[in-house]
Amino acid sequence: SPFLATAALDMAALADLDRRHLVHPHQRSDRTDRAVIVRGQGCAVWDADGAEYLDATGGANWLCQVGHGRAELAEAAAEQLRQLPYFTSFDVFSNDKSIRLATRLAGLAPAGLGQVFFTCGGSEGVDTAIKAARLYHHRRGESERTWILARRFGYHGATYGSGTATGFDGMQHAVGPNLPHVHKLTPPFPYHSEWFEGRGCTDFLIDELAAAIEQIGAHNIAAMIGEPVMAGGGVVPPPDDYWPRVRALLRHNGILLIADEVVTAFGRTGAWFDSPGRGMDPDMIVTAKGLTSGYAPLGAVLFNEDIAAAVTDDGFFHGYTYFGHPTACAIALANLDLIENEGLLDRSRQIGAWLREGLTAAESLPVVGDIRMAGATIGVELVADRATREPIMAGPAATEIRKAHGVIVRDYGNTVVIAPPLVMDEQQAARTVEAMTSVLTRLH
Ligand code: PLP
Repeated sequence: SPFLATAALDMAALADLDRRHLVHPHQRSDRTDRAVIVRGQGCAVWDADGAEYLDATGGANWLCQVGHGRAELAEAAAEQLRQLPYFTSFDVFSNDKSIRLATRLAGLAPAGLGQVFFTCGGSEGVDTAIKAARLYHHRRGESERTWILARRFGYHGATYGSGTATGFDGMQHAVGPNLPHVHKLTPPFPYHSEWFEGRGCTDFLIDELAAAIEQIGAHNIAAMIGEPVMAGGGVVPPPDDYWPRVRALLRHNGILLIADEVVTAFGRTGAWFDSPGRGMDPDMIVTAKGLTSGYAPLGAVLFNEDIAAAVTDDGFFHGYTYFGHPTACAIALANLDLIENEGLLDRSRQIGAWLREGLTAAESLPVVGDIRMAGATIGVELVADRATREPIMAGPAATEIRKAHGVIVRDYGNTVVIAPPLVMDEQQAARTVEAMTSVLTRLH
């Protein structure tokens, strides 16, 4: 009906239409408990029946850094929509907002990563980086460098390229053939010491990496991709010496390093970008999510000058219609202003400290195996047995935290994740911790 866009629809009616017409990502069709969110302000969101929730996972996808309902971003979008909603960046054309945003990103990025390629999100960014890595070597006369090293439990997206680099088998299942020449390494996950054969985590992983390079042949490997801190894998900060040692070994073998900062950038872990603080020194960064706080779909790949020069040398036959979308870029510029002017990088670390301190009491609960953090981002890994680390799926706990306490957290396998808007206050952090602790106390 032409009135569908504005007709009053309650939760039951929306959930029914949802069931009939929406194919949800990463889901089976038997999901019946749909929560339809229709409005947000700060860290609060409301469902279609008017129930209020505390959003402790930033749009439930760790991206809403500046909080919901920010008039500044609505105004930036409206102004740009009136002025020039869209124009292509193909052919001779460009637009002022994408130029301004690329310049701003070059200023915030680690030194040397000043060349920007825009995408609609993270998966397209990862595909772009993989293509750029292979093309870079090809243009330098090393066409056989096609292999990509990635890690189990790394999440890089859902397209064929990014999905193959993703370290969750389900992503590649029954949709093959997937991208060839991708090799998965063990992730730097100190809690799971059983993976390291009684050796130190980094020592084991460096030997594993060296053996993989030896087996595949350095001259066949284009790049390694990794999140500075694994996000979807369960919020996993690596040991301090992991990235510096990986970096050195890759450089020695002429292998590029791609940092997937789709989640970790723009304050999520307390800095503009997370990779510098981990000694990663990547050749490319892929980012998205917090770039616009989710107010528009936008991603970016940052290249160093050598890569940008090599891939454009004889033409980079790659790019998306919505590259440098003026409205998305205008929103991103206003979003970065808010993050900077409101001191949200410091605030991120403060929120993390409130949450972590509040969760101290939960450390001794039988179901809590490990609590990990990076900036405002916390992962609580649930186990049936602390000695064997046998996992308990976190879905039921996350559902209970939402239903019984009105707090939205996410479950990633057996880890409950908190990654709130970076405007969360101390009282909201305390409410999040209370809800978590109360539900985890009752879990067996
Ligand atoms: N990389 C990481 C680390 C992610 O967490 C995600 C999405 O969650 C992606 C890439 C894919 O990004 P998108 O879903 O925007 O395509």
